Amino acid sequence: MKALRSNGAAARPPNGRDHLIALHQVKKVYKNNAGGYTALKNIDLTIDRGEFVGIIGRSGSGKSTLINMITGIDRPTTGEVYVGETAVHTLSENQIARWRGRNLGVIFQFFQLLPNLSVIENVMLPMDFCHAYPLSQRRQRALALLDMVEMADQAYKLPSALSGGQQQRVAIARGLANDPQIIVADEPTGNLDSKTADAVFNLFETLTAEGKTVVMVTHDSNLARRVSRTVLITDGEVVNEYVARALPSFPPEAVLQASRQVQPETFPPGATIINPGEAAQKFYMIVAGTAEVALKRAGGSDVVAAEMGPGQYFGEMSLSSRTVAAMRAAPDQPVQVLAMDNETFQNLLAGSPDFQAAMQQMTRFTPQAEGQVG
Ligand code: ADP
Ligand code: MG
Repeated sequence: MKALRSNGAAARPPNGRDHLIALHQVKKVYKNNAGGYTALKNIDLTIDRGEFVGIIGRSGSGKSTLINMITGIDRPTTGEVYVGETAVHTLSENQIARWRGRNLGVIFQFFQLLPNLSVIENVMLPMDFCHAYPLSQRRQRALALLDMVEMADQAYKLPSALSGGQQQRVAIARGLANDPQIIVADEPTGNLDSKTADAVFNLFETLTAEGKTVVMVTHDSNLARRVSRTVLITDGEVVNEYVARALPSFPPEAVLQASRQVQPETFPPGATIINPGEAAQKFYMIVAGTAEVALKRAGGSDVVAAEMGPGQYFGEMSLSSRTVAAMRAAPDQPVQVLAMDNETFQNLLAGSPDFQAAMQQMTRFTPQAEGQVG
């Protein structure tokens, strides 16, 4: 598992995608009486080293199914799953268990500690299973991990003697036993009060700061706001990240619908996206590069009033009443956008006063900038 080492260019996974985790066209069909239920529909998803990714979406949307593909707890019906240099979808059951034990820390909503083993024995178990550390070091390492989650003083109790929050902290210590580079957690705070949930979240933040990669399913919108990136799942599909970011207050189904209607476009460096005086015909979400809001000066030259980057958006609403502003690609590199036609955009907008307010907020710079130009 050389690709899972945390340093050095040589650790880059040779899966042809340059990502730590890469799902390619992953489809999962559960068999049922009616023939089959498609829980994941050709998912493409990549996650890079050091990311803290929150998987969000309604109950039943496919979040657990998705992360079970990454951990190898379940297998795709078709498609490929790469973690580091491992093609997870090709491993046998035996190989998967050992690979997971060595490379992933898996944490569940219901802690799944073994009830007949003490806390410290639970934490030592993954090391025993994978022979990851010399026998003589395992107890000490388990104690150090328990200390990190502030549970060392409970090491010789049975799980049943602990509160839910304490059990979850033990489960996290167990998840870290073999020093995995990737932590995968399925609603780890789902069964905890908000203060304990916060403590667990802080622990994940610390781990990402240390270079680990965390993938966490969460229902908690407060926590989802604090991860470095969210992936929204709706009906077994990943909603385009940029569309989801531009339209945060919409129902997931509307966002999924909208994400199907967008077209990728690229503007070369310096190219005009919206002419001054024209109403934009589309709504644009920036995926890469920088777009400039340019204002004409009285003498004919122009000035850059604002710059916008990935995750930001602009379009008809922001510019229609401002006849002096142009949008263009910054001079140094192309701008990649996702463009949504006005009709789709207006249909969406009709359903969200919150979003209209947010758009107005984003365009406040315009009068001020005009003032500067005089
Ligand atoms: P989430 O974690 O987002 O709540 P899941 O991934 O658990 O959603 O489930 C997605 C869909 O797949 C749901 O409709 C669920 O009923 C169905 N499903 C999950 N596991 C199975 C299974 N083992 N057999 C049949 N259907 C399943
Ligand atoms: Mg679930």
